[in-house]
Amino acid sequence: MDPKPEWLLEIAVPLGVEGLYTYAMPSSWETGDGPPQDLVGCRVRVPFGKRKQYVGLVMKVHQNRPSYPIKEALERLDAKPIWGTRGHELWSWMLGYYFCSPGALMGLALPALLRVGSESVLVAMDFIEEEGSDRWQDLHPLSKQLWECLRQGPGMSLEAVQRWMVPHNPSPWIQELMEAGLIGTLENFSKVYRPKSEAWVAKGPRWLAEGAAIMPELERSPRQLEFVMAMHAVAAGSDQVSLSAVLSKLKLTRTPTAVLQSLVEKGLLLRSTRWVPRVRLKAGLQKPLALNPVQADASLKARHALTLGQNVLLHGVTGSGKTHVYLDLLREVLDRGEQVLFLLPEIALTHQLVQRVAEYVGVEVGVYHSRYSDHERVELWNLVRDGGVSLILAPRSGVFLPFARLGMIIVDEEHDPSYKQQDRSPAYQARDVALWLGSVWKIPVVLGSATPSAESWQAAQSGRMSKVDLTMRFADQKMPEWVWVDMIRENQSGRVQGEFSSTLLEAMRDEISAGRQVLLFKNRRGYAPSLHCEDCAWTARCNQCDLALVYHKSEHRLRCHGCGQVFASPPGCSSCGSTRLVYKGYGTQKIEESLALLLPEVRVARLDQDAVRSKNLYGRTLDAFQRGDIQVLVGTQMISKGLDFPGVNLVGVLDADQGLFRSQFRAQERSYQLLAQLAGRSGRHQGQGRILLQTRMPHHPLFGWLERDAYAAFMDQELLYRSQFGYPPYVRLLRIGLSHPHQAMVEEAAAELVAVWRPVLGSRLLGPAPPLTALLRNEHRLEFWIKSEKNSEIRQRLAEWIPAELRRLLSMRKYLHLKVFVDVDPE
Ligand code: ADP
Ligand code: ZN
Ligand code: ZN
Repeated sequence: MDPKPEWLLEIAVPLGVEGLYTYAMPSSWETGDGPPQDLVGCRVRVPFGKRKQYVGLVMKVHQNRPSYPIKEALERLDAKPIWGTRGHELWSWMLGYYFCSPGALMGLALPALLRVGSESVLVAMDFIEEEGSDRWQDLHPLSKQLWECLRQGPGMSLEAVQRWMVPHNPSPWIQELMEAGLIGTLENFSKVYRPKSEAWVAKGPRWLAEGAAIMPELERSPRQLEFVMAMHAVAAGSDQVSLSAVLSKLKLTRTPTAVLQSLVEKGLLLRSTRWVPRVRLKAGLQKPLALNPVQADASLKARHALTLGQNVLLHGVTGSGKTHVYLDLLREVLDRGEQVLFLLPEIALTHQLVQRVAEYVGVEVGVYHSRYSDHERVELWNLVRDGGVSLILAPRSGVFLPFARLGMIIVDEEHDPSYKQQDRSPAYQARDVALWLGSVWKIPVVLGSATPSAESWQAAQSGRMSKVDLTMRFADQKMPEWVWVDMIRENQSGRVQGEFSSTLLEAMRDEISAGRQVLLFKNRRGYAPSLHCEDCAWTARCNQCDLALVYHKSEHRLRCHGCGQVFASPPGCSSCGSTRLVYKGYGTQKIEESLALLLPEVRVARLDQDAVRSKNLYGRTLDAFQRGDIQVLVGTQMISKGLDFPGVNLVGVLDADQGLFRSQFRAQERSYQLLAQLAGRSGRHQGQGRILLQTRMPHHPLFGWLERDAYAAFMDQELLYRSQFGYPPYVRLLRIGLSHPHQAMVEEAAAELVAVWRPVLGSRLLGPAPPLTALLRNEHRLEFWIKSEKNSEIRQRLAEWIPAELRRLLSMRKYLHLKVFVDVDPE
């Protein structure tokens, strides 16, 4: 008789590798004749190599035993798939469509604490090698330094070592130390999610039965009596109360263990532990939602389309009240007891919108956001999976949440660049993922924007989506007025002070003296984007990146915005020694400083990545602006998104030309969107809003469309250009980036790919060419672009072929340090 066939598990491990690993399923896991239910999608602990263990994810269960020896899995960590009931479909699709490894997908999709054990920690071994020993002598100085560093702490993750050793690649030194037996790895299981618990005390059976009659018996134990009295007072009629509440009533910092013990023994007290949720849900009110006729009409049309199974593109001008239309649509879904995913751009996020949404929905609102702690994210994840929360507001990563019964997805400001994951695999576009989920799970999707993406616009034009318009601002507010300030002319007539034209300054003074507020936009953080020598051509540049260094005045340092390195500001030119160094250009810090001179009595604050490093500053700054404590808010694109301040009727754009001439095919679309969104912050509640733009080319055609608020006309033109020159949404693009510490190696690898790909792809293959920043973090970069027809077989073949070819390349020993990044549908 044949032995009973064994069950095998295909497991994704959290390494940057392609493919899955096969393990045997312990026979003790079997239920009946087969594998246990719901095993796919659960985490299991597996041995790896000689000394390591990982926590991986079960991707498949099968019975085809490979010919090579395999190990047995050790432990199952989840009872139910962590990706939810239908996560499997999403994950499989993502792996294929975005050419990513399961490990990389785990890294982005799961909250950090569900990725336990994914991190190897390097530790210095216990035994101390004598410094005089031969082995030590032979070590490279960097290896010695690394070992010294490791010896001082509990260990460092590979990532931390990488950061510590910048600009060097740590691999050779780690290897050297490993071979010398000076360091080892430890799988870090300490980061496991643990529920937070709290000690509670309850009235014991005798207390409950006898009530006040227990008092006399305690008179001889004053401390016990005191405790009981305090507990009685705090519990206020309830039978139980948290221990810490009683302790604080007693002004005690430590638990009086003996007292509690005696009370328990007398049957007067019970001790217990309670699980305390860390996740903060925002309690919802249920204000009535009064739509104006335009909104009501839009909502009706949208609902009609959704019942026909069509997705909706809500094209509503800024301030038209798209949020109210979403609310009207989603309340119905919530009433049916289904969940709603409300996606919003990265930054505008939470603060204002959560408050507003919560007023109308009558349910608790969950927010899934990277600013929240790892523990909170896990708890929210579990709540979503168990159906314990119905409305979730989230940035792009919200698409991975394990919904129990999702009934609708809303993508607010669907054109926003932050929906696209950049620079990390999988480089997914959350809007596209939402649409995919919608089509596979048969869930309605509502996209909304004042300036929809070319993709969505074209989908609406071709009938794949239903476009619903909101052409009026709420409460008859007028659309903002556009004012162009010709900086060349202003300059000629001596009307420019620093970065400001007199026109802008005067407009600001008027607003402020009328008690209103101003937003000032400049898409560059820091003080000055570069430092030049006036006597030669020298510019301060990063030693690891092909980038000019940005001067940050508050810290009097130069920063590289590519790799984040910080440099001291040099006293003189590194090339000729001259001390005539000048800062060129300006960023938000400089504007803030100029304002202090030009409008000294005005209260100014800044909102950009540097200013919001600390967790709560973003919210605090916005609150202060809301209260009117701040009169002028200077910021980067952070201030362009979704903000709704009644006091703002003027938005100033210091350099409207920035970004117009970028080489990306999307440059015009992005510029239009950004400027229209900025304008949209003004005049939302009363009076006439205005956007004042300083430019050197007031007659640029883009400005004409903006001024007439003619997005449709602009898009017609833009789509014509895209189809003529072969750009998305008419073709599909794929960007493949290669990088290596040595220029020659990256060139060699690129040449190998060209040799294989060119004959097949012909003119669809563009490149290799260096990207804008050809050197980044000491790695030389080259990239390819592949253009393919939509819906063509080519795309299908690429899907099999590109990963295979890349795998072949990466498995070659000489390409050990080669990195490959595949960007599907690059923006
Ligand atoms: P959009 O997202 O389209 O730019 P918002 O949804 O932010 O516009 O709405 C603009 C402003 O108008 C907000 O302050 C909002 O509270 C208000 N508003 C819009 N519609 C209504 C309505 N039906 N009832 C009350 N206030 C509304
Ligand atoms: Zn750099
Ligand atoms: Zn010089």
